[in-house]
Amino acid sequence: MTDFSLNLSEDQIQIQKWVHDFAEGVIRPAAHEWDEREEFPWPVVEEAAQIGLYGVDFLMNAMGDPTGLTLPVAIEELFWGDAGIGMAIMGSALAAAGIAGNGTPEQIIEWVPQCYGTADDVKLGAFCVSEPDAGSDVSSLRTRAVYDEANDEWTLNGTKAWITNGGIADVHVVVASVDPELKSKGQASFIVPPGTKGLSQGQKYLKHGIRASHTAEVVLDDVKVPGSCLLGGKEKLDAKFARARENVSTGKQPAMATFEATRPSVGAQALGIARAAYEYSLEYAKERHAFGRPIIMNQAIAFKLANMATEIDASRLLIWRAAWLAKNGTFKNGEGSMSKWKASETAVRVTEDAIQILGGYGYTREYPVERWHRDAKIHTIFEGTSEIQQLVISRAISGLRIE
Ligand SMILES: Cc1cc2nc3c(=O)[nH]c(=O)nc-3n(C[C@H](O)[C@H](O)[C@H](O)COP(=O)(O)OP(=O)(O)OC[C@H]3O[C@@H](n4cnc5c(N)ncnc54)[C@H](O)[C@@H]3O)c2cc1C
Repeated sequence: MTDFSLNLSEDQIQIQKWVHDFAEGVIRPAAHEWDEREEFPWPVVEEAAQIGLYGVDFLMNAMGDPTGLTLPVAIEELFWGDAGIGMAIMGSALAAAGIAGNGTPEQIIEWVPQCYGTADDVKLGAFCVSEPDAGSDVSSLRTRAVYDEANDEWTLNGTKAWITNGGIADVHVVVASVDPELKSKGQASFIVPPGTKGLSQGQKYLKHGIRASHTAEVVLDDVKVPGSCLLGGKEKLDAKFARARENVSTGKQPAMATFEATRPSVGAQALGIARAAYEYSLEYAKERHAFGRPIIMNQAIAFKLANMATEIDASRLLIWRAAWLAKNGTFKNGEGSMSKWKASETAVRVTEDAIQILGGYGYTREYPVERWHRDAKIHTIFEGTSEIQQLVISRAISGLRIE
């Protein structure tokens, strides 16, 4: 076990600075353009790949850090730069986490690098769980996976909704129901390799925020994948189903296991946006004059900033604790959910206050705070809404099946 410490190591400080420099020099100047274009920012992601920020090695190194802090520290800086571009860079990590969380060592070695490609040939991954009628309620997935034993082949049919990198990814990780009677315990995750027939992009969503990140439906129409694409393998799945039928605990379900592990990282995304808005509005409040003095000299403005600073620090402490616990123990009271819930709600509040501090300017697209406000909101929705995080926490602290 590694001790928890608020002192970052030399390596972590270097990574923090490296990501910050890229966020400041490359991402921020591009943010407005890609938000307006509402397109995937290929040139920026390619530049990130060239310096090794978008790539499997960086992700694996960060995920391998025994303190757990490297990843949230890097993500905070990335999203401080811009959340839409940040999401375009981080989107593949969810697919990678889905593979790492459920796959065999051989599957991890084969497929995680394919979610990233190389610096000169960038690829993307997508993690496909949500459906038009199943977002929070993951147990209601309708996408079906049917096994053909004679050919050792699975056939997938269904429609996935709101998928980051959906349809433009090279590797799609799809969670599907194999035995609907077992509800979420009857689900499994599959790799759909690049170029597989029957997988196509449905509608691309036009969004409120993180508009540089691509979000679309994924349609699975008689998609056939070999038995080797079932994450974890058939033997393990059969054993899990047998235990589920006997009503014995089968451990975490595939989608839930992935989301639980990634929650502190999603919190760190929101934290980066909140910090960007706080820093910007602090400087603005010192410079903007009204009634003959800087607006920060009014308690109404200064107290808003004091509140922002405190909430941001509280969020970071929860995120770091959760990230450390995920590596050095286990969540007991829904600490991962606490960190994501607190940071995402903080980001929404802080960015709204930032608009208020900038007044009319804050409401225009000439200034970045309105974009940060739009970008912040998604964090209270995806990877478990704020209500679902509270459900997880209340069940964890009570030991009861709170509905
Ligand atoms: C930009 C974007 C990117 C996304 N990327 C991905 C992705 O890459 N992969 C993926 O699989 N999904 C992705 N999603 C989907 C996302 O995870 C879901 O939208 C989210 O889980 C909420 O599901 P829903 O939209 O169906 O809302 P619903 O589940 O219909 O919820 C609607 C409202 O009801 C509340 N509610 C529901 N159940 C309860 C309850 N039991 N108690 C209290 N309140 C409840 C919710 O909190 C919410 O306020 C993405 C979504 C967006 C918008």
